[in-house]
Amino acid sequence: MNEFSLIENYFNWDNLDLNALGVGDDCALISIEDNYQLATSVDTLIEGVHFPSQTSPADIAYKALSVNLSDLAAMGATPKYFTLALTLPEVDEHWLEEFSGSLKSLASKYKIDLLGGDTTKGKLSITINVTGIVPRHKALLRSSAKVGDVIFISNTIGDAALAWQQIQQNTQPSQNLLKQFNTPEPQVALGQSLIGIANACIDISDGLEQDLGHLLKHSHVGAKINLADIPLSKEVTDYLEKTKDWCLPLAGGDDYQLCFTVVPDKVSEVKALAKELGVQLNSIGVITKDTGLKYLKGLDQECSAYQHF
Ligand code: ADP
Ligand code: MG
Repeated sequence: MNEFSLIENYFNWDNLDLNALGVGDDCALISIEDNYQLATSVDTLIEGVHFPSQTSPADIAYKALSVNLSDLAAMGATPKYFTLALTLPEVDEHWLEEFSGSLKSLASKYKIDLLGGDTTKGKLSITINVTGIVPRHKALLRSSAKVGDVIFISNTIGDAALAWQQIQQNTQPSQNLLKQFNTPEPQVALGQSLIGIANACIDISDGLEQDLGHLLKHSHVGAKINLADIPLSKEVTDYLEKTKDWCLPLAGGDDYQLCFTVVPDKVSEVKALAKELGVQLNSIGVITKDTGLKYLKGLDQECSAYQHF
């Protein structure tokens, strides 16, 4: 199968947005609605770095799109379009069938159109560029947390990191942990709903400590976090009881939850939102004038988050 029939067979889908020009020409064309800004982001997944070699093609596709959707969620943007740059070691039709099937079903769940891409031969790597729309000047930024804001995070953290640790130790992770690791759910509806409620927001991809650290730095503020308030799954709670290794949930990464700050007056709106969306939203601390991140109950470990270089 040549490059062009590969694209035609697996990646040329019907678009939801009939005003956009998709796969086939030199560029995709997008019409921008008045009073909106485009939000755009790109992430690459490399075999052996972002997913283990034994990962199924369906899970690779899911994670590649999901981590990008998580960036749109963090800005409060509505997903609209994506492009896919795919580098494959060989043409394996079974692999392509599973990969494109999973990608297409996640894309249709989040109503995002595949508008183009690039297909090359080499070591397996997947780059997805997502574009969303957000009402002009309303996007959730990292830079606008205010002193006194309450800090929230969605759901639980540390599950993917625990799954990864168990895989490396040849232990079979629970279904719950594996789900977080292979098919993380981007918090798109939450991000959109936080517009007008949250002052600042970031998605937790490299661990709460590092990503909250970015938000604090960009906002020129600090934070006090109560470790006991950090929401954890039963598996991670058990792990902490045994090991006291707080670095796993704080710096393990791959959570794709949202961390956001709100003025105290809006805490009740956050509680209502949690009910409406069926998502856990827990307050874990407050924004302080003193810069830096402090743990109320103390943390007797220095954690190092993943960095590529
Ligand atoms: P060009 O050589 O002009 O860059 P290509 O031959 O690479 O174009 O691609 C032809 C068309 O197919 C383009 O519209 C491109 O966006 C699309 N395309 C290529 N690879 C993919 C892919 N993996 N997924 C979706 N669309 C793709
Ligand atoms: Mg090309």
